[in-house]
Amino acid sequence: MSALLPGIPDERVHRLLERLTVRQRLRQVERWLRSTCPTTLPVLRVRVERIGDGWSDLGECYTVPGGLAIRVQSGQDMGPAIDHLLHEWAHAMSWPTRYAEEAHRRLRRREHPEHPDEFWLAYGRVYRAWHDEDGWRRSGGY
Ligand SMILES: [Zn+2]
Repeated sequence: MSALLPGIPDERVHRLLERLTVRQRLRQVERWLRSTCPTTLPVLRVRVERIGDGWSDLGECYTVPGGLAIRVQSGQDMGPAIDHLLHEWAHAMSWPTRYAEEAHRRLRRREHPEHPDEFWLAYGRVYRAWHDEDGWRRSGGY
């Protein structure tokens, strides 16, 4: 029986999950991230949408009034889409809390490294929670 959906056999849960769209699965992962990996500023929204055509347009974390927002490029396969959400969430975990908007402007002007040490520490925490502490399963995966 499934821990995720008590009373329903695992095989049936697997079949249900196979039918999840990327958008639905990312919503599950977002909920898990919110409960597991605190961010420095509130993440006010996570959207799956068209960002652009470049290789760097697969995900984005940016400031909005009152906090942060994350976008993940639509049209990606499930695995890469989840990877990009985890990556952007690590940005939210390591986002400077003081002068956040100025930090964002400096980042845009490339006066600040896009992935400073704090980012990689946060990414390591997300990666460990996802892979070693079964986040992929706890979030509703199988
Ligand atoms: Zn990044």
